[in-house]
Amino acid sequence: MHDFPYEITNWIGGSPTPESASHFTKHNPATGGPTCRVIRSGEADVNAAVESARQAFAAWSATTPVRRGEILHAICMGLREQRERVARVVALETGKNMKSALGETDAAIALGLFFAGEGQRLYGRTTTSGTPCKSAMTIRRPIGIAGLIIAANTPIANVAWKVFPALICGNTAVLKAAEDTPATAWVFAEIAQAAGLPAGVLNVIQGIGPEAGRALVAHPAVDVVSFTGSTRAGREIAESAGRRLARVSLELGGKNPLIVCDDADLDNAAHWIIQSAFSNAGQRCAAASRVICFESVYETLKAKLLARAAALKVGPTDADDYGPVVNERQLTNILAAIDRARADGATVLCGGTRLDDAGYYIAPTFIEGANPHAEISTCELFGPVACLYRVPDFAAALAMANDSPYGLTACIHTRSVHRAQEFIERVQAGVVVVNAGTFGSEPHMPFGGMKQSGNGSREPGTEALDVYSTLKDVYVTHDPAQL
Ligand code: NAD
Ligand code: MN
Repeated sequence: MHDFPYEITNWIGGSPTPESASHFTKHNPATGGPTCRVIRSGEADVNAAVESARQAFAAWSATTPVRRGEILHAICMGLREQRERVARVVALETGKNMKSALGETDAAIALGLFFAGEGQRLYGRTTTSGTPCKSAMTIRRPIGIAGLIIAANTPIANVAWKVFPALICGNTAVLKAAEDTPATAWVFAEIAQAAGLPAGVLNVIQGIGPEAGRALVAHPAVDVVSFTGSTRAGREIAESAGRRLARVSLELGGKNPLIVCDDADLDNAAHWIIQSAFSNAGQRCAAASRVICFESVYETLKAKLLARAAALKVGPTDADDYGPVVNERQLTNILAAIDRARADGATVLCGGTRLDDAGYYIAPTFIEGANPHAEISTCELFGPVACLYRVPDFAAALAMANDSPYGLTACIHTRSVHRAQEFIERVQAGVVVVNAGTFGSEPHMPFGGMKQSGNGSREPGTEALDVYSTLKDVYVTHDPAQL
């Protein structure tokens, strides 16, 4: 019994579609070997998926939110029952170890349970009216068809992050899977179907961004587009959807700062820098890639970081700290960016190299002496690479943190409530952390960025309901003369 078929096709109208002549091959990042062949969907496939979502919309949007929540709950129970299988697929597709893949699967389930419960809330607001015998309130209504496009870094969590809030609000959806994690999306669709999700409510399209993704975004029947991925693609998606004024939610890249002050607990800071820079091989939008350290403690912190980096184990097993990057193109791009930084005068303190001839492993890499405006300081790499910068004081640290095109997450290590509070208020980031790591939000909290890290939307949390539903103002008047 295999976890998924070798030929990964789409899910449209509640069933996997027939195989097609057009494919690409997906490789295992831990070995470089092929894991499956994936249908390379084109416009016709996208049209079929959107049509299926359109047909399912009337019944799904008329289903009570409580009932929709029960069905989403059943999907969560299906994921929990098949937790090991889901995690095996995630581990195979990403190269991360089973421990991380299981943690990610559990996070996807926790998020699903939160939104299943929202079926019993979906609050609007009631308020007063300026007119006698009139009441005023808002109610939430579905938008229509949601086009969902995701990145590959935490595949089952990314699927959950989009699908559960879109469906609880009463929309039907077409999910464009990431090309590096096709089987995870396929398996989710299968589990959702088995759990009783009506056919056509969730359709999954496989394919590459500029083909399947672009066609989905451009489709006139897609009413809301939610995208997690690079700033480059996000900008194009906003332009395309903007032409027909479709709603867009963009969760994009980051170049996240982590400040270490002279009063910080340096061991705690070092621990969290290692976690923030290297966990998931640095393939996190929230990863800390700019470590901004007070001059007076710089050398001490650097020594601690280099000792910890040297002790990291890189590989596919649960005994390893992190695994490969997701594909060969990413591997090549990251190593080339490190080479350009070196040529530009920066010093590679550790790492900067490939670790294995077959798998896509990169050694933990710390760089110092980079110009804060150089490519290595301003462009997101999405790999296990972080730069160290020296600053004289808090003001310089804050200025450097904010001197970035991105504004997703930011962290400060300090024992001073004054510094921490000033940082919380003034750093340009959607997520701020004191004395820990730059990590994503909890299921009930709104995550998202400022500047080039997004378009201001926030998901998940109840704020995601604002992405996937529309508000109606309702006024009811009555006439006491008619009693
Ligand atoms: P990417 O933008 O290349 O691809 C992401 C998804 O978009 C894929 O499914 C891809 O097929 C699709 N796509 C690409 N071009 C498209 C287009 N023109 N039209 C429609 N769809 C298109 O991103 P990536 O390199 O695969 O992923 C890493 C990026 O994702 C990083 O920038 C990372 O910061 C970001 N990310 C952000 C968050 C967040 O919540 N802010 C979370 C995870 C990853
Ligand atoms: Mn890309």
